[in-house]
Amino acid sequence: MADPSITRSEVAPNLIVEAGVAITMEPGADPVANVGIAVTGDRITEIADLHVLRSVHPETPTIGGPHMIVLPGLINAHQHLTGDRLIRSMIPDDLEAGRSIYEWAVPAHAAHTGDDDQLSATLSLLEGVTNGITFTVEAGTVAHPDRVLAGFDAVGVGGTLGSWGWDVAGEPWAGSVAEVLDRQREVLTLTETHDRVDGWVTLVGHDLMSDELVVSASELARSNGTGLTFHLSPSSSDAVSYLQRTGKRPAVHLNNLGVLGRHVLIAHGVHLDDQELELLLASDTALAYCPWAYLRLGQGVTSAGRHVEFIGRGGRVALGCDAENAGDAIDVLGSVALAAGLAKDMAVDPTLFGARAALQHATLGAAEALGMATEIGSLAVGKRADIVVIDTAGPEWIPRSPDPILQLVWASDGRSVCDVVASGRVVVRDGESTMVNRSELAIEAAERHARLLTDAGLG
Ligand SMILES: [Zn+2]
Repeated sequence: MADPSITRSEVAPNLIVEAGVAITMEPGADPVANVGIAVTGDRITEIADLHVLRSVHPETPTIGGPHMIVLPGLINAHQHLTGDRLIRSMIPDDLEAGRSIYEWAVPAHAAHTGDDDQLSATLSLLEGVTNGITFTVEAGTVAHPDRVLAGFDAVGVGGTLGSWGWDVAGEPWAGSVAEVLDRQREVLTLTETHDRVDGWVTLVGHDLMSDELVVSASELARSNGTGLTFHLSPSSSDAVSYLQRTGKRPAVHLNNLGVLGRHVLIAHGVHLDDQELELLLASDTALAYCPWAYLRLGQGVTSAGRHVEFIGRGGRVALGCDAENAGDAIDVLGSVALAAGLAKDMAVDPTLFGARAALQHATLGAAEALGMATEIGSLAVGKRADIVVIDTAGPEWIPRSPDPILQLVWASDGRSVCDVVASGRVVVRDGESTMVNRSELAIEAAERHARLLTDAGLG
Protein backbone atom coordinates (compact mmCIF):
# COMPACT_ATOMS: atom_id res chain seq x y z
CA MET A 1 0.00 0.00 0.00
CA ALA A 2 1.11 3.54 -0.64
CA ASP A 3 1.85 5.48 2.52
CA PRO A 4 -1.40 7.38 3.15
CA SER A 5 0.52 10.18 4.85
CA ILE A 6 2.08 11.13 1.50
CA THR A 7 -0.04 13.28 -0.76
CA ARG A 8 -0.09 11.32 -3.97
CA SER A 9 0.66 14.25 -6.23
CA GLU A 10 3.86 14.99 -4.27
CA VAL A 11 5.40 11.67 -5.23
CA ALA A 12 5.89 11.02 -8.90
CA PRO A 13 4.56 7.60 -9.86
CA ASN A 14 6.85 5.13 -11.60
CA LEU A 15 4.49 4.70 -14.50
CA ILE A 16 1.29 6.08 -15.97
CA VAL A 17 -0.87 3.73 -18.03
CA GLU A 18 -2.82 5.77 -20.55
CA ALA A 19 -6.27 4.41 -21.35
CA GLY A 20 -8.32 5.56 -24.30
CA VAL A 21 -10.98 3.52 -22.55
CA ALA A 22 -10.59 2.03 -19.05
CA ILE A 23 -12.65 -0.99 -18.05
CA THR A 24 -12.09 -0.99 -14.31
CA MET A 25 -14.44 -3.93 -13.52
CA GLU A 26 -15.32 -2.13 -10.29
CA PRO A 27 -18.94 -2.87 -9.28
CA GLY A 28 -21.36 -0.84 -11.34
CA ALA A 29 -18.66 1.11 -13.18
CA ASP A 30 -19.06 1.69 -16.90
CA PRO A 31 -16.07 1.91 -19.23
CA VAL A 32 -14.67 5.43 -19.06
CA ALA A 33 -12.69 7.39 -21.65
CA ASN A 34 -9.31 9.12 -21.32
CA VAL A 35 -8.16 7.82 -17.99
CA GLY A 36 -4.66 7.69 -16.55
CA ILE A 37 -3.67 5.01 -14.06
CA ALA A 38 -0.70 5.92 -11.91
CA VAL A 39 1.51 3.13 -10.61
CA THR A 40 3.90 3.54 -7.69
CA GLY A 41 5.89 0.51 -6.63
CA ASP A 42 3.58 -2.47 -7.00
CA ARG A 43 0.37 -0.51 -6.39
CA ILE A 44 -2.16 1.54 -8.31
CA THR A 45 -1.89 4.91 -6.58
CA GLU A 46 -4.18 7.13 -8.62
CA ILE A 47 -6.84 6.84 -11.29
CA ALA A 48 -7.76 10.19 -12.80
CA ASP A 49 -8.45 12.14 -15.95
CA LEU A 50 -5.48 11.44 -18.18
CA HIS A 51 -4.69 15.05 -19.05
CA VAL A 52 -4.78 16.12 -15.42
CA LEU A 53 -2.55 13.25 -14.37
CA ARG A 54 -0.08 13.93 -17.18
CA SER A 55 0.08 17.63 -16.33
CA VAL A 56 0.85 16.85 -12.69
CA HIS A 57 3.47 14.20 -13.57
CA PRO A 58 4.91 15.25 -16.95
CA GLU A 59 8.18 13.34 -16.42
CA THR A 60 6.64 9.98 -15.57
CA PRO A 61 7.09 7.27 -18.24
CA THR A 62 3.90 6.08 -19.90
CA ILE A 63 2.54 3.09 -21.74
CA GLY A 64 -0.81 2.72 -23.46
CA GLY A 65 -2.33 5.50 -25.48
CA PRO A 66 -5.51 6.98 -26.94
CA HIS A 67 -6.33 3.88 -28.99
CA MET A 68 -5.77 1.45 -26.15
CA ILE A 69 -8.32 -0.25 -23.90
CA VAL A 70 -7.07 -0.92 -20.39
CA LEU A 71 -8.45 -3.52 -18.02
CA PRO A 72 -7.32 -5.28 -14.85
CA GLY A 73 -4.91 -8.19 -15.05
CA LEU A 74 -6.82 -11.39 -15.74
CA ILE A 75 -7.06 -14.32 -13.34
CA ASN A 76 -6.67 -17.96 -14.39
CA ALA A 77 -8.14 -19.96 -11.50
CA HIS A 78 -7.03 -23.45 -12.53
CA GLN A 79 -3.87 -24.19 -14.46
CA HIS A 80 -1.48 -27.10 -14.46
CA LEU A 81 1.79 -25.25 -14.95
CA THR A 82 3.93 -28.36 -15.39
CA GLY A 83 3.80 -31.82 -16.91
CA ASP A 84 2.02 -32.04 -20.21
CA ARG A 85 3.06 -28.46 -21.07
CA LEU A 86 6.23 -29.90 -22.58
CA ILE A 87 4.25 -32.38 -24.70
CA ARG A 88 1.72 -29.73 -25.69
CA SER A 89 -1.05 -30.72 -28.08
CA MET A 90 0.29 -34.24 -28.46
CA ILE A 91 -2.36 -35.91 -26.32
CA PRO A 92 -4.95 -37.23 -28.79
CA ASP A 93 -8.46 -35.82 -28.55
CA ASP A 94 -10.18 -39.13 -29.24
CA LEU A 95 -9.15 -41.12 -26.15
CA GLU A 96 -11.55 -42.81 -23.76
CA ALA A 97 -12.11 -41.11 -20.40
CA GLY A 98 -9.08 -41.27 -18.13
CA ARG A 99 -6.59 -42.41 -20.76
CA SER A 100 -5.31 -38.90 -21.49
CA ILE A 101 -4.44 -38.57 -17.82
CA TYR A 102 -3.07 -42.02 -17.02
CA GLU A 103 -1.41 -42.81 -20.35
CA TRP A 104 -0.06 -39.33 -21.07
CA ALA A 105 -0.19 -36.72 -18.32
CA VAL A 106 0.84 -38.90 -15.37
CA PRO A 107 3.83 -40.51 -17.18
CA ALA A 108 4.96 -37.05 -18.34
CA HIS A 109 4.73 -35.72 -14.79
CA ALA A 110 6.49 -38.81 -13.40
CA ALA A 111 9.48 -38.22 -15.70
CA HIS A 112 9.70 -34.52 -14.92
CA THR A 113 12.94 -33.20 -13.48
CA GLY A 114 13.25 -29.96 -11.56
CA ASP A 115 14.55 -28.33 -14.74
CA ASP A 116 11.45 -29.56 -16.57
CA ASP A 117 9.19 -28.09 -13.90
CA GLN A 118 10.85 -24.69 -14.12
CA LEU A 119 10.82 -24.64 -17.91
CA SER A 120 7.23 -25.82 -18.26
CA ALA A 121 5.99 -23.37 -15.60
CA THR A 122 7.88 -20.55 -17.31
CA LEU A 123 6.33 -21.44 -20.68
CA SER A 124 2.84 -21.74 -19.20
CA LEU A 125 3.07 -18.43 -17.37
CA LEU A 126 4.64 -16.76 -20.42
CA GLU A 127 1.77 -17.88 -22.62
CA GLY A 128 -0.70 -16.74 -19.98
CA VAL A 129 0.81 -13.30 -19.46
CA THR A 130 0.98 -12.55 -23.17
CA ASN A 131 -2.77 -13.25 -23.12
CA GLY A 132 -3.25 -10.86 -20.19
CA ILE A 133 -3.14 -13.31 -17.27
CA THR A 134 -1.32 -11.83 -14.28
CA PHE A 135 -2.50 -14.25 -11.59
CA THR A 136 -2.63 -18.04 -11.88
CA VAL A 137 -3.83 -20.69 -9.45
CA GLU A 138 -1.60 -23.74 -9.88
CA ALA A 139 -3.85 -26.78 -10.03
CA GLY A 140 -2.01 -29.02 -7.58
CA THR A 141 0.31 -31.23 -9.61
CA VAL A 142 3.74 -29.80 -8.92
CA ALA A 143 6.64 -32.05 -7.97
CA HIS A 144 9.23 -29.28 -7.53
CA PRO A 145 7.49 -26.19 -6.13
CA ASP A 146 10.73 -24.23 -5.70
CA ARG A 147 11.37 -24.55 -9.43
CA VAL A 148 7.83 -23.50 -10.32
CA LEU A 149 8.27 -20.50 -8.03
CA ALA A 150 11.38 -19.69 -10.06
CA GLY A 151 9.14 -19.77 -13.14
CA PHE A 152 6.76 -17.25 -11.53
CA ASP A 153 9.77 -15.05 -10.74
CA ALA A 154 11.16 -15.35 -14.25
CA VAL A 155 7.92 -14.24 -15.90
CA GLY A 156 7.09 -11.70 -13.18
CA VAL A 157 3.48 -12.64 -12.49
CA GLY A 158 1.57 -13.71 -9.40
CA GLY A 159 -0.37 -16.75 -8.34
CA THR A 160 -0.87 -19.50 -5.83
CA LEU A 161 1.28 -22.57 -5.47
CA GLY A 162 1.21 -25.86 -3.61
CA SER A 163 2.84 -29.25 -3.89
CA TRP A 164 1.60 -32.45 -5.48
CA GLY A 165 -0.97 -33.87 -3.06
CA TRP A 166 -2.27 -37.42 -3.19
CA ASP A 167 -1.88 -40.46 -0.98
CA VAL A 168 -2.58 -43.09 -3.64
CA ALA A 169 -0.21 -46.04 -3.43
CA GLY A 170 1.95 -46.71 -6.46
CA GLU A 171 1.43 -43.38 -8.22
CA PRO A 172 4.21 -40.84 -8.88
CA TRP A 173 4.85 -38.19 -6.24
CA ALA A 174 2.45 -39.94 -3.85
CA GLY A 175 3.12 -40.07 -0.13
CA SER A 176 1.58 -40.82 3.24
CA VAL A 177 -0.79 -38.25 4.71
CA ALA A 178 2.04 -36.93 6.88
CA GLU A 179 4.42 -36.71 3.93
CA VAL A 180 1.90 -34.93 1.72
CA LEU A 181 1.12 -32.42 4.46
CA ASP A 182 4.81 -31.83 5.15
CA ARG A 183 5.34 -30.97 1.49
CA GLN A 184 2.43 -28.53 1.62
CA ARG A 185 3.92 -26.91 4.72
CA GLU A 186 7.24 -26.55 2.93
CA VAL A 187 5.54 -24.53 0.18
CA LEU A 188 3.79 -22.33 2.73
CA THR A 189 7.22 -21.61 4.22
CA LEU A 190 8.82 -21.17 0.79
CA THR A 191 6.28 -18.53 -0.21
CA GLU A 192 5.86 -16.89 3.21
CA THR A 193 7.57 -13.64 2.27
CA HIS A 194 6.89 -13.71 -1.47
CA ASP A 195 5.05 -10.58 -2.58
CA ARG A 196 3.25 -12.08 -5.60
CA VAL A 197 2.90 -15.82 -5.00
CA ASP A 198 0.86 -17.25 -2.12
CA GLY A 199 1.25 -20.76 -0.79
CA TRP A 200 -1.97 -22.74 -1.00
CA VAL A 201 -2.69 -26.29 0.06
CA THR A 202 -3.25 -28.29 -3.13
CA LEU A 203 -4.52 -31.82 -3.52
CA VAL A 204 -5.17 -33.73 -6.72
CA GLY A 205 -8.66 -34.46 -5.41
CA HIS A 206 -11.23 -36.57 -7.28
CA ASP A 207 -11.33 -39.82 -5.31
CA LEU A 208 -7.54 -39.81 -5.14
CA MET A 209 -7.31 -38.57 -1.56
CA SER A 210 -8.13 -40.36 1.66
CA ASP A 211 -10.62 -38.81 4.07
CA GLU A 212 -7.75 -38.32 6.52
CA LEU A 213 -5.75 -36.40 3.90
CA VAL A 214 -8.50 -34.05 2.78
CA VAL A 215 -9.62 -33.33 6.34
CA SER A 216 -6.04 -32.58 7.43
CA ALA A 217 -5.40 -30.48 4.32
CA SER A 218 -8.49 -28.40 4.95
CA GLU A 219 -7.44 -27.85 8.56
CA LEU A 220 -3.93 -26.89 7.41
CA ALA A 221 -5.33 -24.30 5.00
CA ARG A 222 -7.73 -22.91 7.61
CA SER A 223 -5.09 -22.66 10.32
CA ASN A 224 -2.73 -20.85 7.94
CA GLY A 225 -5.40 -18.52 6.63
CA THR A 226 -4.81 -19.71 3.09
CA GLY A 227 -6.67 -21.54 0.33
CA LEU A 228 -7.25 -25.19 -0.48
CA THR A 229 -7.89 -26.40 -4.01
CA PHE A 230 -8.56 -29.83 -5.50
CA HIS A 231 -10.36 -31.43 -8.44
CA LEU A 232 -13.91 -32.74 -8.15
CA SER A 233 -16.57 -33.97 -10.55
CA PRO A 234 -15.55 -32.66 -13.97
CA SER A 235 -17.22 -35.86 -15.23
CA SER A 236 -19.73 -38.21 -13.63
CA SER A 237 -17.08 -40.73 -12.55
CA ASP A 238 -16.26 -39.11 -9.18
CA ALA A 239 -19.88 -39.49 -8.10
CA VAL A 240 -19.81 -43.18 -9.03
CA SER A 241 -16.63 -43.69 -7.04
CA TYR A 242 -17.80 -41.78 -3.94
CA LEU A 243 -21.17 -43.54 -3.93
CA GLN A 244 -19.38 -46.90 -4.00
CA ARG A 245 -16.94 -45.97 -1.26
CA THR A 246 -19.05 -43.80 1.05
CA GLY A 247 -22.68 -44.16 0.00
CA LYS A 248 -22.77 -40.39 -0.55
CA ARG A 249 -22.14 -38.12 -3.50
CA PRO A 250 -18.76 -36.32 -3.40
CA ALA A 251 -19.76 -32.88 -2.11
CA VAL A 252 -22.12 -34.44 0.44
CA HIS A 253 -19.35 -36.65 1.77
CA LEU A 254 -16.85 -33.76 1.90
CA ASN A 255 -19.39 -31.59 3.66
CA ASN A 256 -19.97 -34.34 6.23
CA LEU A 257 -16.20 -34.41 6.81
CA GLY A 258 -16.22 -30.65 7.49
CA VAL A 259 -13.86 -29.98 4.59
CA LEU A 260 -15.87 -27.36 2.69
CA GLY A 261 -15.80 -23.65 3.37
CA ARG A 262 -14.87 -20.22 2.12
CA HIS A 263 -11.21 -21.23 1.93
CA VAL A 264 -11.94 -23.98 -0.62
CA LEU A 265 -11.75 -23.61 -4.41
CA ILE A 266 -13.04 -26.77 -6.07
CA ALA A 267 -11.83 -27.23 -9.61
CA HIS A 268 -14.74 -28.07 -11.93
CA GLY A 269 -17.89 -29.10 -10.01
CA VAL A 270 -19.61 -29.86 -13.31
CA HIS A 271 -21.66 -32.85 -12.21
CA LEU A 272 -23.46 -31.73 -9.06
CA ASP A 273 -26.91 -32.78 -7.91
CA ASP A 274 -29.30 -30.42 -6.10
CA GLN A 275 -28.07 -31.35 -2.63
CA GLU A 276 -24.44 -30.86 -3.58
CA LEU A 277 -25.18 -27.46 -5.11
CA GLU A 278 -26.98 -26.40 -1.93
CA LEU A 279 -24.11 -27.54 0.27
CA LEU A 280 -21.50 -25.70 -1.81
CA LEU A 281 -23.60 -22.53 -1.65
CA ALA A 282 -24.27 -22.88 2.08
CA SER A 283 -20.59 -23.43 2.84
CA ASP A 284 -19.52 -20.60 0.46
CA THR A 285 -17.18 -23.01 -1.32
CA ALA A 286 -15.95 -21.58 -4.65
CA LEU A 287 -15.69 -23.25 -8.05
CA ALA A 288 -13.05 -22.95 -10.78
CA TYR A 289 -14.88 -23.36 -14.08
CA CYS A 290 -12.76 -24.49 -17.07
CA PRO A 291 -15.22 -24.92 -19.94
CA TRP A 292 -12.71 -25.69 -22.71
CA ALA A 293 -11.47 -28.68 -20.71
CA TYR A 294 -14.91 -30.26 -20.52
CA LEU A 295 -15.43 -29.78 -24.24
CA ARG A 296 -12.06 -31.26 -25.27
CA LEU A 297 -12.63 -34.23 -22.96
CA GLY A 298 -16.33 -34.61 -23.72
CA GLN A 299 -17.30 -34.52 -20.04
CA GLY A 300 -20.89 -33.37 -20.36
CA VAL A 301 -20.86 -29.72 -19.31
CA THR A 302 -23.44 -28.84 -21.93
CA SER A 303 -26.00 -31.11 -20.28
CA ALA A 304 -24.88 -31.15 -16.64
CA GLY A 305 -23.07 -27.86 -15.92
CA ARG A 306 -24.73 -25.60 -13.35
CA HIS A 307 -22.15 -22.86 -12.93
CA VAL A 308 -24.39 -20.02 -14.09
CA GLU A 309 -27.16 -21.17 -11.76
CA PHE A 310 -24.56 -21.31 -8.99
CA ILE A 311 -23.47 -17.75 -9.79
CA GLY A 312 -27.08 -16.57 -9.93
CA ARG A 313 -27.62 -17.89 -6.42
CA GLY A 314 -24.59 -16.08 -5.04
CA GLY A 315 -21.95 -18.73 -5.60
CA ARG A 316 -18.36 -17.67 -6.18
CA VAL A 317 -16.93 -18.81 -9.53
CA ALA A 318 -13.62 -18.13 -11.27
CA LEU A 319 -12.72 -19.18 -14.80
CA GLY A 320 -9.70 -21.33 -15.59
CA CYS A 321 -7.92 -22.93 -18.54
CA ASP A 322 -6.76 -26.26 -16.99
CA ALA A 323 -4.15 -28.29 -18.91
CA GLU A 324 -2.79 -29.62 -22.17
CA ASN A 325 -5.01 -32.69 -22.07
CA ALA A 326 -7.97 -30.49 -21.34
CA GLY A 327 -8.23 -27.37 -23.44
CA ASP A 328 -4.60 -26.69 -24.31
CA ALA A 329 -4.68 -22.90 -24.74
CA ILE A 330 -3.83 -20.67 -21.77
CA ASP A 331 -6.08 -17.79 -22.72
CA VAL A 332 -8.74 -17.00 -20.16
CA LEU A 333 -10.47 -14.54 -22.50
CA GLY A 334 -11.31 -17.59 -24.61
CA SER A 335 -12.87 -19.17 -21.53
CA VAL A 336 -14.86 -15.98 -20.92
CA ALA A 337 -16.50 -16.10 -24.35
CA LEU A 338 -17.12 -19.82 -24.11
CA ALA A 339 -18.69 -19.51 -20.66
CA ALA A 340 -21.03 -16.81 -21.97
CA GLY A 341 -21.96 -18.83 -25.03
CA LEU A 342 -22.53 -22.07 -23.10
CA ALA A 343 -24.78 -20.29 -20.62
CA LYS A 344 -26.99 -18.94 -23.37
CA ASP A 345 -27.11 -22.13 -25.37
CA MET A 346 -27.71 -24.51 -22.46
CA ALA A 347 -30.66 -22.42 -21.33
CA VAL A 348 -31.78 -21.67 -24.89
CA ASP A 349 -31.95 -18.08 -23.66
CA PRO A 350 -29.91 -15.37 -25.41
CA THR A 351 -30.66 -12.88 -22.63
CA LEU A 352 -28.62 -14.86 -20.12
CA PHE A 353 -25.07 -14.17 -18.91
CA GLY A 354 -23.62 -11.72 -21.42
CA ALA A 355 -20.05 -10.63 -22.08
CA ARG A 356 -19.80 -8.33 -19.09
CA ALA A 357 -21.12 -10.96 -16.67
CA ALA A 358 -18.70 -13.53 -18.04
CA LEU A 359 -15.72 -11.16 -17.90
CA GLN A 360 -16.44 -10.64 -14.19
CA HIS A 361 -15.38 -14.23 -13.61
CA ALA A 362 -11.89 -13.63 -14.97
CA THR A 363 -11.53 -10.38 -12.98
CA LEU A 364 -13.25 -9.18 -9.81
CA GLY A 365 -15.59 -12.15 -9.53
CA ALA A 366 -12.60 -14.46 -9.86
CA ALA A 367 -10.74 -12.52 -7.18
CA GLU A 368 -13.75 -12.95 -4.89
CA ALA A 369 -13.71 -16.69 -5.57
CA LEU A 370 -10.04 -16.75 -4.55
CA GLY A 371 -10.68 -14.63 -1.45
CA MET A 372 -8.44 -11.92 -2.91
CA ALA A 373 -10.88 -9.19 -3.96
CA THR A 374 -9.12 -6.53 -1.89
CA GLU A 375 -5.85 -7.24 -3.70
CA ILE A 376 -6.54 -8.06 -7.38
CA GLY A 377 -9.34 -8.26 -9.94
CA SER A 378 -10.16 -4.61 -10.68
CA LEU A 379 -8.50 -1.30 -11.37
CA ALA A 380 -8.74 0.52 -8.04
CA VAL A 381 -6.41 2.68 -5.97
CA GLY A 382 -4.54 0.58 -3.44
CA LYS A 383 -4.79 -2.66 -5.38
CA ARG A 384 -1.87 -4.52 -6.90
CA ALA A 385 -0.88 -2.85 -10.17
CA ASP A 386 -1.87 -5.72 -12.48
CA ILE A 387 -2.96 -4.00 -15.68
CA VAL A 388 -3.61 -5.17 -19.25
CA VAL A 389 -3.37 -2.91 -22.28
CA ILE A 390 -5.42 -3.99 -25.30
CA ASP A 391 -4.30 -2.73 -28.70
CA THR A 392 -7.23 -1.85 -30.93
CA ALA A 393 -5.17 -1.55 -34.11
CA GLY A 394 -5.92 -5.12 -35.19
CA PRO A 395 -8.60 -6.10 -37.69
CA GLU A 396 -10.77 -7.56 -34.94
CA TRP A 397 -11.29 -3.98 -33.71
CA ILE A 398 -12.18 -2.42 -37.06
CA PRO A 399 -14.57 -0.69 -36.83
CA ARG A 400 -14.63 0.06 -33.12
CA SER A 401 -17.85 -0.76 -31.31
CA PRO A 402 -19.12 1.72 -28.74
CA ASP A 403 -19.23 -1.27 -26.37
CA PRO A 404 -15.61 -2.32 -25.70
CA ILE A 405 -16.55 -5.29 -23.50
CA LEU A 406 -18.83 -6.75 -26.16
CA GLN A 407 -16.07 -6.42 -28.73
CA LEU A 408 -13.31 -7.74 -26.45
CA VAL A 409 -15.23 -10.85 -25.43
CA TRP A 410 -16.98 -11.79 -28.68
CA ALA A 411 -14.65 -10.43 -31.38
CA SER A 412 -11.27 -10.94 -29.75
CA ASP A 413 -9.31 -12.86 -27.12
CA GLY A 414 -5.72 -12.78 -25.92
CA ARG A 415 -4.51 -11.88 -29.42
CA SER A 416 -5.24 -8.19 -28.74
CA VAL A 417 -3.13 -7.98 -25.58
CA CYS A 418 -0.29 -5.56 -26.20
CA ASP A 419 1.28 -4.57 -22.88
CA VAL A 420 0.97 -6.06 -19.42
CA VAL A 421 1.91 -4.62 -16.05
CA ALA A 422 2.24 -7.10 -13.18
CA SER A 423 2.85 -5.86 -9.63
CA GLY A 424 3.84 -2.50 -11.11
CA ARG A 425 6.40 -3.84 -13.57
CA VAL A 426 5.97 -3.82 -17.35
CA VAL A 427 6.34 -7.55 -18.03
CA VAL A 428 4.96 -7.58 -21.60
CA ARG A 429 5.63 -4.87 -24.18
CA ASP A 430 4.23 -5.02 -27.70
CA GLY A 431 3.21 -8.62 -27.14
CA GLU A 432 6.63 -9.85 -26.02
CA SER A 433 7.84 -10.62 -22.52
CA THR A 434 10.35 -8.13 -21.16
CA MET A 435 11.43 -10.77 -18.66
CA VAL A 436 12.32 -13.93 -20.56
CA ASN A 437 13.67 -14.66 -24.02
CA ARG A 438 11.11 -16.61 -26.03
CA SER A 439 13.61 -17.82 -28.61
CA GLU A 440 15.93 -19.26 -26.00
CA LEU A 441 13.01 -20.95 -24.25
CA ALA A 442 11.92 -22.48 -27.56
CA ILE A 443 15.35 -24.07 -28.08
CA GLU A 444 15.40 -25.43 -24.54
CA ALA A 445 11.81 -26.68 -24.86
CA ALA A 446 12.56 -28.58 -28.07
CA GLU A 447 15.43 -30.41 -26.35
CA ARG A 448 13.47 -31.24 -23.23
CA HIS A 449 10.38 -32.20 -25.18
CA ALA A 450 12.36 -34.92 -26.99
CA ARG A 451 14.03 -36.18 -23.84
CA LEU A 452 10.79 -36.16 -21.85
CA LEU A 453 9.02 -38.28 -24.46
CA THR A 454 11.78 -40.87 -24.21
CA ASP A 455 12.00 -40.81 -20.41
CA ALA A 456 8.22 -41.05 -20.04
CA GLY A 457 7.99 -43.88 -22.56
CA LEU A 458 5.85 -41.75 -24.85
CA GLY A 459 8.28 -41.38 -27.74
ZN1 LIG B 1 -6.97 -29.79 -13.55
